[in-house]
Amino acid sequence: MSAATAPLLGQDLSALTHWMESQGQPAYRGKQLHQWIYQKGANSLGNITVFSKEWRSSVADIQIGRSQVQHRSVAPDGTIKYLLTLADGQVIETVGIPSDQRLTVCVSTQVGCAMACSFCATGKGGFFRNLKAHEIIDQVLTVQSDFGQRVSHVVLMGLGEPMANLDEVLPALRCLNTDVGIGQRSMTLSTVGIPGKIEELANHHLQITLAVSLHAPNQLLREQLIPTAVNYSIEGLLDDCREYVRVTGRRLSFEYILLAGVNDKADMAMELASRLRGFQSHVNLIPYNAIDEADYQRPNRQQVQKFAQVLEQQRIAVSVRYSKGLGADAACGQLRTAKRTTEKESPIQKSSLLP
Ligand code: SAH
Repeated sequence: MSAATAPLLGQDLSALTHWMESQGQPAYRGKQLHQWIYQKGANSLGNITVFSKEWRSSVADIQIGRSQVQHRSVAPDGTIKYLLTLADGQVIETVGIPSDQRLTVCVSTQVGCAMACSFCATGKGGFFRNLKAHEIIDQVLTVQSDFGQRVSHVVLMGLGEPMANLDEVLPALRCLNTDVGIGQRSMTLSTVGIPGKIEELANHHLQITLAVSLHAPNQLLREQLIPTAVNYSIEGLLDDCREYVRVTGRRLSFEYILLAGVNDKADMAMELASRLRGFQSHVNLIPYNAIDEADYQRPNRQQVQKFAQVLEQQRIAVSVRYSKGLGADAACGQLRTAKRTTEKESPIQKSSLLP
């Protein structure tokens, strides 16, 4: 695709400079455009006031590639969930999670999800399409503008399976790193595991963190929870994870959702520990967040602690992640493509340009 037809969002400094030159502008204007798109969060060329009014009106029909905020809901803990309308009318969710000095964005990589995990709201609605790189980057810039604060961390844990869309996810991560300025080590890609993809990612030698949604200590239970696990043995998955650590030199984390009476018993923690023994990894326990379409239960705090203790005693690094955003259906697993009718409207702040 030529620079003229590709959205400006996602293009690096040299591509933007070429584009400005193709519009009869001097090269330094490319640097200004880059700064206004990625640092100031401009959502249309008409808002870039360093350019002459005359020139801005001559390019009025050229889009930067930003989405529209259709709705935002604020959870009691300050987490904000946004519904974004894309150019083709599809709607996705993205979440801004403030904590201490951090601002984390939970980014979607697809409209819907084809993985159909039994406990996840996204998969219940089916799969529509992959997101384009600029639609992924846009989510981060939207949260950054709305909070008026730099985004420090990006987690690919919103709608979709990032490994099923690596062709768009990788350029988006590159842009977030070099153009927006977010460190690779502050980015996490979460995957349920797709054969061949962990190896493919490893070969890019990125410094991002890989999180693998394991959720079960054995193949039988994993297949009950995750339909796509039938195509990927747990042994094969863990071998690929070991190879990922060897090739990239990065530690890896495993996510383990805790479902009461299903995968949260002490003997399962023991089984998990023996699977992961000697593995350079960290286990994140995620107590289940309720969704309407599944009748799993969240284990009580005592059961969660007991599971964590067994892992600790077996010298497995572990932490418990109580998801933020519960009051706004913005927690892990609660994201979906359509707006829930129970959600309360809250006014959309005019997205402010960052200083
Ligand atoms: N497709 C990616 C990203 C999904 S969301 C993946 O599977 O890893 C990120 C995490 O939230 C995953 O570990 C996912 O399994 C978990 N999750 C999904 N539904 C959940 C729920 N209802 N409660 C808690 N965590 C959930």
